[in-house]
Amino acid sequence: MALAYIGLGSNLEDPLAQVTRAFAELADLPTTALLARSSIYTSRAVGPAQPDYTNAVTLLDTQLAPIALLDALQAIEQAHQRVRIQHWGPRTLDLDLLLYGDQTIAVERLTVPHPYLSQRSFVLYPLAEITPNLHLPDGTPLAELLSRCPADGLTRLPSPA
Ligand code: AMP
Repeated sequence: MALAYIGLGSNLEDPLAQVTRAFAELADLPTTALLARSSIYTSRAVGPAQPDYTNAVTLLDTQLAPIALLDALQAIEQAHQRVRIQHWGPRTLDLDLLLYGDQTIAVERLTVPHPYLSQRSFVLYPLAEITPNLHLPDGTPLAELLSRCPADGLTRLPSPA
């Protein structure tokens, strides 16, 4: 079993519903348990002008190997009829494999830790909510990355009652 952190993002077609549905779909993956999920956040989009994003992070305990997990994430994205018109453009659902245990992976389809992990507030703040004392595979504490990453434009939504 491996602990894997997944980043979720959506800014089209009822983003809150897209992310909520994705929580259930991640929990339903074979040989996988959803151990934790962050609050839901909204963030200003990076790249071309587009609607704000809805973001969250989940922690999975999974027997799926990294590429099998990536395949499963991409199948969920497809099921959300993801539209990707332009690089960094709007999308119905984006699922990123942020961390997979303490592994460092660099193959054509998969880079872990996710390349943008260390600079994106919409990943770092939800990660800290789930595992405040997290360290990256190279030993960098999450707290150090957070101290260099202002939460500008990031809003944590109140949990549903
Ligand atoms: P994007 O839509 O911008 O998230 O990019 C998707 C592409 O990134 C896919 O072709 C994946 O194979 C590739 N990719 C590389 N590393 C990762 C990762 N850690 N998580 C998700 N996709 C990744």
